[in-house]
Amino acid sequence: MAGRNDELVLLPLGGVGEIGMNLALYGFGPPHRRRWMAVDFGVAFPHFDLPGVDLVFPDIAYLEEKRRNLAGIVITHAHEDHFGALIDLWPRLKVPVYATAFTANLLAAKLASEPRASPVPINLVTAGEHITVGPFAVEYINVAHSIPESHALAIRTPLGTIVHTADWKLDDTPVLGAPTDEARLKAIGEEGVLALVGDSTNAMREGRSPSERDVAGEIARIVAGASGRVAFTTFASNVGRIKSIALAAAAAGRDVIVVGRAMRRAIDVALELGLLDGVRPFLDDEALAYLPRDKTVVLLTGSQGEPRAALSRVASGDHPRIELSPGDTLVFSAREIPGNEIAIGGIINQLTAAGIKVITDRERLVHVSGHPRRDEMRAMYEWTKPKIAIPVHGQAMHLAAHAELAREAGVETVLMIEDGMMVRLAPQPAKQIDEIDVGRLYKDGRLIGALDAVGVSERRRLAFAGHVAAAVILDEGGDLAADPQIALSGLPLRGTDGRPLGETALNGALAALESIPRRRRRDPDLVREAVRRAIRAAIEETWGKKPVCTVLVAIV
Ligand SMILES: [Zn+2]
Ligand SMILES: [Zn+2]
Repeated sequence: MAGRNDELVLLPLGGVGEIGMNLALYGFGPPHRRRWMAVDFGVAFPHFDLPGVDLVFPDIAYLEEKRRNLAGIVITHAHEDHFGALIDLWPRLKVPVYATAFTANLLAAKLASEPRASPVPINLVTAGEHITVGPFAVEYINVAHSIPESHALAIRTPLGTIVHTADWKLDDTPVLGAPTDEARLKAIGEEGVLALVGDSTNAMREGRSPSERDVAGEIARIVAGASGRVAFTTFASNVGRIKSIALAAAAAGRDVIVVGRAMRRAIDVALELGLLDGVRPFLDDEALAYLPRDKTVVLLTGSQGEPRAALSRVASGDHPRIELSPGDTLVFSAREIPGNEIAIGGIINQLTAAGIKVITDRERLVHVSGHPRRDEMRAMYEWTKPKIAIPVHGQAMHLAAHAELAREAGVETVLMIEDGMMVRLAPQPAKQIDEIDVGRLYKDGRLIGALDAVGVSERRRLAFAGHVAAAVILDEGGDLAADPQIALSGLPLRGTDGRPLGETALNGALAALESIPRRRRRDPDLVREAVRRAIRAAIEETWGKKPVCTVLVAIV
């Protein structure tokens, strides 16, 4: 029973209006005593504008503050944008985490490769299971996606039921796992659904996405028709795709060789759970030495062009064990995550220039998305008939396309939200009731913090114009005790006047000192600032750019 002042609210901390780092908070109770449940705990991957940053997290300051009223974290599936923040941020919360076996085992395998990380205990859930997380009764509903054991959630409260779809698609013939549980979704729709919080990734694409089975067929044809070595790159967690590749290899009398740690880890987890039963054993890269080229299929990590992953090293010819030669084939069996196009394009060009045949999903059906297109979304609305639709998991354009579809599907209320916006779903009317500050956290080496706390803003300036250091030593009388020392990092050798920039900096420093009356040179702050400005101005004069400049002043 709901109390008189009870409310049901949703507050996304990440994943709405952006790609990645999904983290939704559901709250129930009177406004001053809400109890919370988090759904998913994801990361985003940095682009070139975040030099040196490894991972981007939602800012969880709000959760840390509400920690005592946070009943748990429910994970829908093991994609990094849904569970990738657990290892780094869970220790700040230490609340119960719920996930299925594949997710739990993949997390354990990741933890095993990070010796500094502390373990994250998981409460195991199975598909179809009902669990209680504080005031929420949560049912795990099987959905088809691009990783094993993906689930939508039916979240029941005394004020109504929410269907949180997470990532899903419709696929009547998945290669692994069961199709999306249409019967359950329809039954929940019959019971009555207050709100649907749904995946918007492919809301701009009409129609219905092809089945994973269609991709399997195309992969089999490619392997059967290939002459040299065939290599595939895909997401390590796409076990269904890996199974299709392995079956295609076996049909063509080839063995599958796994290259890349993340790929090996995901395959081991899948094998352990019996997800790859009936598939011939996967070999390690030592097998490359003795197996003929036309008897192998190679699985490589690095489908997003990650510079340290196997594919990128193979493409640039510096992988210690594997090379591809003219006549070999490389298949990109993955989508390009926005932002990675340049890196991936670079690899495709390298391989093509080396005479290797590259096949992407532009030429053949070697990849399908794990997210629903518009017809699939229409089906979901027909089955669940929510009163409220809330588009999430997408950028503004995807959310808007989803909103339009939901209205067309006859949903009474469509709420457009953003990260940090708290909306009340019940009692009606549904509307925004609060807004909290949401930032981001950045993982930089072993540190996690705000952008300035980890120094990334300054690092961007350094990347743009380099750094000049100057050391100035004055005696008590204000005279130079030695020549100023200058060190340059990341600057051109000479300016437009043909002079070395180190000399330009030194002359700037000397001129600045000259211009300061002797008695005022005893003020190190004044000297520091005058020299700094003079060096930057002198270099700008001859280079056209101002470097970051550090001046150290000592008075002896
Ligand atoms: Zn996702
Ligand atoms: Zn996903």
